[in-house]
Amino acid sequence: MSLAQGAPLLSRLVSSSVAIASQAGHVIREIMKKGDLGIVEKESVRDLQTEADRAAQRCIISSLNKCFPKITIIGEEGEDETKVTSGSIFDPSTMSLVDVTCPAHLSSMAEEEVVVWVDPLDGTAEYTQGLLDHVTVLIGIASGGKAIGGVIHQPYYNYQNPGSELGRTVWGIVGGEVGGMKILPPPEGKLIVTTTRSHSSSTVNDAISAVSPDEVLRVGGAGHKVMLLLEGKAHLYVFASPGCKKWDTCAPQAILEAAGGILTDIQGNAIPYDASAPHRNSTGVLASAAGQKHEVYLEQIPQHVKDNLKA
Ligand code: AMP
Ligand code: MG
Ligand code: MG
Repeated sequence: MSLAQGAPLLSRLVSSSVAIASQAGHVIREIMKKGDLGIVEKESVRDLQTEADRAAQRCIISSLNKCFPKITIIGEEGEDETKVTSGSIFDPSTMSLVDVTCPAHLSSMAEEEVVVWVDPLDGTAEYTQGLLDHVTVLIGIASGGKAIGGVIHQPYYNYQNPGSELGRTVWGIVGGEVGGMKILPPPEGKLIVTTTRSHSSSTVNDAISAVSPDEVLRVGGAGHKVMLLLEGKAHLYVFASPGCKKWDTCAPQAILEAAGGILTDIQGNAIPYDASAPHRNSTGVLASAAGQKHEVYLEQIPQHVKDNLKA
């Protein structure tokens, strides 16, 4: 399909983002193959950036900007990697694009209303450690301060199954469809919690203990953890810490909500995604798969954990 200019903006934005995220995944794999990751520390040794983060952001922002010049794009890797560089532009219409249906209430949105939150490589710590299936590319679409659409690309999906197609891209629109995967319910009669493996703290662990899980999956990346909720491998994602940012949660939240799940902060409040919102999700993240009792888990989070995470 070529980009039908008559299609609603959100349909064109999601289908283009699917193609662009997949191209960014190609960039990420090529840099890993060459082996020179160009690692630098950002705010701390627990906050790394590689050449793959930088190059994937250049690819995503340049390409989205070219197709949708009036949208606001906020990328994790900052201004230097935000400039439109002609060498990084990928034209999504050169690929066969997925057909995305736009719900009626979102069909008349203008570019000026849209804020796109880009995490070009989520799970950088794990990428540098060779835990490649924790890596995702996240493109989250917001309007009116709400996450309304999202794309999660897994560049290394199937990498341990030679012969199977490498990489997968999932997309969703809140109040609309989810594409690119089959949503599965988590097992009944037990509680599997997923959380950080590289950014733990005592409040993170106190919040997890309070919901009494049968199993805890400590894995990298906000995108990867929400994929576990969508795939039926975990019931709940608990992160009682201020370390996650809007680009980590916007795309996963939109897809999770499209699939019937819920993502809020640790106090149960909605996370705002307008362009002036602070980048940091200072009051943490709690996400639950479809059919889970989000409210009940919120009540179980201890007050001292909630107080510790005041905005
Ligand atoms: P994790 O679950 O640890 O993989 O974190 C999910 C996302 O939040 C990743 O993009 C991390 O880089 C980010 N993040 C979480 N905690 C921190 C932190 N303490 N410092 C920097 N980034 C963090
Ligand atoms: Mg991230
Ligand atoms: Mg990142």
